[in-house]
Amino acid sequence: MESNQPDQGEEMEMVMDMVGFGGPEEEAPVMSFNMLDPGGGEEEVPVRKSPYQFDLFVIGGGSGGLSCAKEAATLGAKVALADFVPPTPIGTTWGLGGTCVNVGCIPKKLMHFAGIFGDYQGDQRECGWELPTNVPHNWERMVANVQKHIQVLNWGYRVQLIDKEITYFNHYASFVDSHTVALHDKTGKFVKNVTSENFVVAVGLRPSYGGYPGAEECCFTSDDLFSMKSVRDNILCIGASYISLECAGFLHSLGKHVTIMVRSILLRGFDQEVAEKIGSFMEGLGMVFIKGAVPIQFSKTEDGKVRVEYEQNGEQKVEIYGAVFLAIGRIALTKGIKPENAGIVINPRNNKIIVDEADRSSVPNIFSIGDVSDGRPELTPSAIQAGSYLAKRLFGGSTHIMDYVNVPTTVFTPIEYGCCGLSEEKAIEIYGDENVEVYHSMFKPLEWNYLESREGKYCYGKIVTNKLENEKVIGLHYLGPNAGEVLQGFAAAMKCGLTKEILDQTVGIHPTCAEELTKIDVTKRSGRTAAKTGCWG
Ligand code: FAD
Ligand code: NDP
Repeated sequence: MESNQPDQGEEMEMVMDMVGFGGPEEEAPVMSFNMLDPGGGEEEVPVRKSPYQFDLFVIGGGSGGLSCAKEAATLGAKVALADFVPPTPIGTTWGLGGTCVNVGCIPKKLMHFAGIFGDYQGDQRECGWELPTNVPHNWERMVANVQKHIQVLNWGYRVQLIDKEITYFNHYASFVDSHTVALHDKTGKFVKNVTSENFVVAVGLRPSYGGYPGAEECCFTSDDLFSMKSVRDNILCIGASYISLECAGFLHSLGKHVTIMVRSILLRGFDQEVAEKIGSFMEGLGMVFIKGAVPIQFSKTEDGKVRVEYEQNGEQKVEIYGAVFLAIGRIALTKGIKPENAGIVINPRNNKIIVDEADRSSVPNIFSIGDVSDGRPELTPSAIQAGSYLAKRLFGGSTHIMDYVNVPTTVFTPIEYGCCGLSEEKAIEIYGDENVEVYHSMFKPLEWNYLESREGKYCYGKIVTNKLENEKVIGLHYLGPNAGEVLQGFAAAMKCGLTKEILDQTVGIHPTCAEELTKIDVTKRSGRTAAKTGCWG
């Protein structure tokens, strides 16, 4: 049947034309949508009884900032938001929405999905799909589709700001005093000062280059990876936490040779038994680990490859790689906001803003949420919830504060790892070995039985309980397919005080991997094998 509706591709082009997207957003017009200037354009700030132009000025249009601005506007506050993205050393920049949308969770998960699809080719053949072998992967096509989706999200955020009459400045903001910010454009030119009763700082983090000679010239980071038109083969990923392992995982699955340089341990802060299983799984897939190593310097070879000098266990070494991906931590963007002009106290250890439990900084009218706040998880959902709760406290009469206990998370490595609560070692450190009971199980997902070569020993469930509190579940760990989907509901149960007894009484959904967590009965203390034999009965 013929249709007059544009197809998805055409519709996207129309949307992009409407907003003038020719690439990453840069010098967008300043917009104001208030009663005196409903048409937008160069803003005229209305005359208000308050001595300030706005009730709330949010610096940073990422997960936390957008959530706070939108909620505050919904509650009737007069809100402005500034968001600006300085380009990376190789010139990458992006639109409204912050890290998660542009260079974090969203493109990462889409590329992880692309990788998992590749990993399942063997299984697909055994399911009867007559796929050719050695199917090549088209990186450019994947990136184009990922970027198309991101641009839709960028546009969606712009529309939300317009709908909620939030004044948007695509400018860099820094404090002049505790009620004034100065806005600068992309050339660094001063644009104007803006005043507000309250400020929320949600400026997030950017990747560290570690100060290594040649790093900025020779390496790329997660700020570049998701929009790169091509990536050379033979990639060195430096770092051993979430970002490095996740990106290493999908790069390998998409056909690249990947080496991972590890300074100390994998996934610091996570359950180390599970972290080691992830490492073994990745090694089993063909990724190479260089352990106990740190870079010294980088330089380009004549044919555009990267010469990496590094130190491993006290010995200096040199290797040539096609490309080097740096994921060695992230730097809080507090320097640029000139916190000293407003009197905001920064933690000198990590440059993050020190806040109280209600997100208030050392300055009473200045708040901070998300990654840049000291002591908070660096995760999108907690930034979003913190932003919304803060707006409700400021403008909705709420007293509700964020509860950061039992925030679940998933590491999207080729074998996914979802967890909530304490690692086994942390639980023992807090409660003592005699008061902690650990249950575990090693299992093979039913679907993995199509491919004989697929091993089952890596899928793993671990339940950590506190014997002093009726075996309350204080840590839940799951290593296997769809970890985020599996863990979300269990995290809700933990919020409700889940005990091992309730878990045992929970009827499983058969045949799934999630049900495995309701059936674990082997304690580590017993010394019995955790390996499941046979099936699920
Ligand atoms: P951001 O989203 O970083 O937003 C801050 C914004 O402020 C940016 O746009 C910045 O350019 C702007 N800004 C900075 N300074 C100024 C200034 N002076 N003036 C104006 N604007 C300024 N979390 C998850 O929960 N799940 C995941 O799967 C996940 N994957 C990730 C993968 C990667 C590769 C990375 C890097 C992160 C990932 N995260 C994930 C973490 C998540 O992206 C962050 O926790 C989240 O985006 C933090 O939100 P935020 O609002 O604090 O800051
Ligand atoms: P982390 O700070 O967690 O890890 C940095 C890694 O780099 C560590 O392995 C560290 O090793 C290593 N490292 C640090 N400095 C050096 C150096 N000079 N040389 C070599 N190695 C070095 O940062 P990430 O960037 O991985 O992640 C940041 C945050 O983003 C996470 O904590 C998480 O909250 C969020 N995130 C969430 C994701 C999700 O939810 N799925 C995915 C990705 C990120 P060492 O252990 O020795 O210090």
